[in-house]
Amino acid sequence: MKITVLTLFPKMISGFFEESIIKRAVEKKLVEIELVNLRDFAIDEYGTVDDRPYGGGAGMVLRVDVIHKALSKITNDKLQMTNKIKNSKLKIVLTSPRGKVFDQGKAQEYSKLEHLIIIAGHYEGVDERVNEFIDEEVSIGDYVLTGGEIPVAVIVDSVVRLISGVLKKEEAVRNETFDIDGKKLLEYPHYTRPENFEGLKVPDVLLSGNHKEIEEWRLNKAEEITKKNRPDLLDRKK
Ligand code: SAM
Repeated sequence: MKITVLTLFPKMISGFFEESIIKRAVEKKLVEIELVNLRDFAIDEYGTVDDRPYGGGAGMVLRVDVIHKALSKITNDKLQMTNKIKNSKLKIVLTSPRGKVFDQGKAQEYSKLEHLIIIAGHYEGVDERVNEFIDEEVSIGDYVLTGGEIPVAVIVDSVVRLISGVLKKEEAVRNETFDIDGKKLLEYPHYTRPENFEGLKVPDVLLSGNHKEIEEWRLNKAEEITKKNRPDLLDRKK
């Protein structure tokens, strides 16, 4: 899989991809990550990539021609101004607080692509016409950040760990929050040594060796925690 990120601040994210599991995935060639500096597609020698909003208002808006030029180069000019690329293995997404919520389901969906292109906005956002040739806007949550670089890191991290072969067997993606026994539940509690810390004991069932009882206990706990922290998940169909 290839992931291309369009950003004005590549250094804000490059370090993130050079550590731990993502670094390993890149080294093993399970994923290729390309950082493209939007400044390289500026309209003049001063590096202009944005302008004031029509109709007035605070902040600067990233120009549609700059983003279009960058996307055309990345997609080998398949992109036409009013045409989305029809390719089920390629997705172009724009990070935006007004986008569809990025969740584990979306991470799963993106992890099956051949090429994911993510645009990090900045300042006031991007010219609305960019929506004519991208697939969707995605938001990582109901708050406004200064730029799309943190959302990019969040999306890339959650997608890459789902690519087959990225996680070692013991880290494997199974029975995790949002997918406990195939149910949209939060994860059950974990304990490790010491068995008794200042009177705080590990629940007996986990020491019993009875796998059936352990499974039941974990499912009950997952339901209890979900009810407490995220009752909205229980209302939703999977
Ligand atoms: N004016 C925009 C609005 O009210 O929706 C907010 C722009 S924000 C200051 C600048 C950029 O940060 C956005 O273009 C987007 O790329 C990114 N961003 C901020 N919050 C985000 C979020 N919750 N999810 C995804 N991207 C976000």
